[in-house]
Formats: sequence, structure tokens, C-alpha cells
Amino acid sequence: MEFFIKRIQLAFTALIFLSALIPSAAQAGLFTKKTSIMGTDLEVTVSVEDASLADAAFSSVEDEMARIEALMSEWKEGTPVSDINRHAGIKPVAVPDEVFKIITDAVLISEASGGAFDVTWASMRGLWSFTPGNERLPSKDEVDGRLGLVDYRNIVLDPAKKTVYLKKRGMAIGLGAISKGYAVDFAMKMIASSGIKDAIVKAGGDMRVQGRGPDGPWKIGIRDPREKDRLIATLEVSNASISTSGDYERSFIKDGVLYHHIMDPKTGFPARGTRSVTVLGPDTETTDALSTAVFVLGPVAGMGLIKSLKGIEALIVDSNGRIHSSPGISLVATVAPARP
Ligand code: ADP
Ligand code: MG
Repeated sequence: MEFFIKRIQLAFTALIFLSALIPSAAQAGLFTKKTSIMGTDLEVTVSVEDASLADAAFSSVEDEMARIEALMSEWKEGTPVSDINRHAGIKPVAVPDEVFKIITDAVLISEASGGAFDVTWASMRGLWSFTPGNERLPSKDEVDGRLGLVDYRNIVLDPAKKTVYLKKRGMAIGLGAISKGYAVDFAMKMIASSGIKDAIVKAGGDMRVQGRGPDGPWKIGIRDPREKDRLIATLEVSNASISTSGDYERSFIKDGVLYHHIMDPKTGFPARGTRSVTVLGPDTETTDALSTAVFVLGPVAGMGLIKSLKGIEALIVDSNGRIHSSPGISLVATVAPARP
């Protein structure tokens, strides 16, 4: 395994884990900067000759991320999303076009995934906490008491008035499984409009890859869901988006059981059957939402959904540590996950 990692580090210009940039890969012409969006680091890497070009692009990205957060956050007061939640069961709320569009897209993914993806999962808020030191595991009764509020079919969208209405009191939406991808797409648009062709933007498990690295195609590594610094696959990508959802991201172990943040809307408990899902596709909003949807569906139904979609590929690690990859995915290298 040692050997495997060393070999790709030497051979590849910029080896980027979906979870971390390898510092030793930094080199002339590559500039990286971090900012934050929705509680996650957003990391921008550009390949340019001139550092001042990179600086201008970074500051336009920062402004854009602040703008998106002010639209999409369900935690900050006064955002369109928190207004929608506050008026659940009371009245429809008119929202900006962008917010209307992302909620409409979220509902389409819910329909495509038979409800595995469902932004009304947020009706569970307060029951679960994954904050380190403050973890909370709800009882089955508590969860069952809220389950009736989780159903995307109770989101009423009026395209003419651009209003969103949640039918039941206590209902809430949370865009955490789609908005980071959306933000990544916008960050890349800002970079492109500042004249930069070769860049990577990454927020948590969501990434957009444009152009190439200084010495060849960008190389992206997919991590082993059970060993942070170990790769199970490597891809060469350009002009594509890649998102990973994993059960290791926000999680805790109680009485030997792993509880994580990707919820099965049918049970109100963490989805079982999958350790991680990586989805490749044409835009990051889509890959972000689909990685969550496929995670919940599990390896069999999840791969069925991927195969039914044009231009989308996936790599799934199931709960036994087995890798399932879609026929069109081209992996440079793969190794089995460390633990069965
Ligand atoms: P990450 O946030 O690590 O990138 P995901 O994109 O998979 O991971 O999003 C997981 C987040 O999405 C959770 O933290 C929660 O906010 C929300 N979520 C959890 N379960 C669902 C679900 N079934 N459908 C939609 N959103 C979900
Ligand atoms: Mg996602």
C-alpha cells in the first residue's frame, strides 16, 4: 500500500484527495486558497503563471460564496430558506429565482430517487447532533413522531409566483446535500470569468475540475472510507464534477454502532448498506445531490439509478467494503478497501 501511494505521488502532478490536497504536490504555478461556505472549507486551486490573476479570482470567489450562503443557509435567520421554514403550514413564501430553482432541482432528484433524497429530512432537526462532544442519538419514538413531516411531496412550488410552501407545521427543508455542489459550480464560474482555464474547486466532498494541471491532466484520488489517508481509486478528469458522500464525514459511534449524517427519509435513521458513494457528472449541484441519493438507495438500487442517467458515473463502496463501479467510469488505478 505504501508503495501504491508513493508511486502515484511521484507520477502525478497534482494528486488531490476528495478530502485533502496533498501539500507535497504544491508546485510552481499552482496557487491554493481556502474560504468557507456553510460550515465547510471551500478550497480553490488554480494553475496560472501570474499570482495576481489568482488573487483576483480568489476574492471574487469569496464574495460569491457569501452571497450564496445568504440565500441558502437554513441556520442563519432571514435567509429565504429559513423564511420558508418559519412559514411552514402558515403560508407560501416568495423566494429569489436561484432559491426557487435549487429547490425545484431538489424535488426532481427526490422524484428520480423515489424519495431517497429528500430535503425535508430537516424536519428532524434538533433530534440528531453530530457535533463532536455534543452528539445526540434520538429514541425511535422521537424519530417516529417526526417522520410524518418528512415528505418532499408536501413541498408546494408555484413557478409563476416563485413561491415555496411547506404544507405542514413543523416541516423544514435543509439544502445541505445539494447547496455545496451549487456553490462549487458558482465558484468555478467566477474563476472562469476571471480568465483562468485550469482550476479545481472543492468544498468538503464536492469538487469541480476544469482544464489541466501544470504537467498534465488533474488526478483525483478517492479515499478509502475506513482509512483517511489511503486511496482506493484514482481518476484523471477534466471539465467534470465529482462528489463523495461518506458515512465517515459527520458521525459518532454509540454502543458499537456507527451513526452518521446521511439519513434514510423512510426511517429517520442513518442509511445502511453503503460506506461511500462517489458520483461523476457534468455539474456539481447534480453530483452532490446524486451522491446522497445513491448512498441512501444502497449499492443495488443506487447503481440502477446511475445506469439510468446519461453522462453520470459512480463508484460505490458497500457496507462489506466491496467496490461497485459503473461501466463507463475510467479509473487509473484501484485497490481494495483496507477493511472488509
Ligand atoms: P456532505 O455534507 O458531507 O458533503 P452529503 O452531500 O451527502 O455530504 O450531504 C449530507 C447532508 O445532507 C447531511 O448532513 C444533511 O444535512 C443532509 N441530508 C441527510 N440525509 C439526506 C437525505 N436523505 N436527503 C437530502 N439531504 C440529506
Ligand atoms: Mg451530496
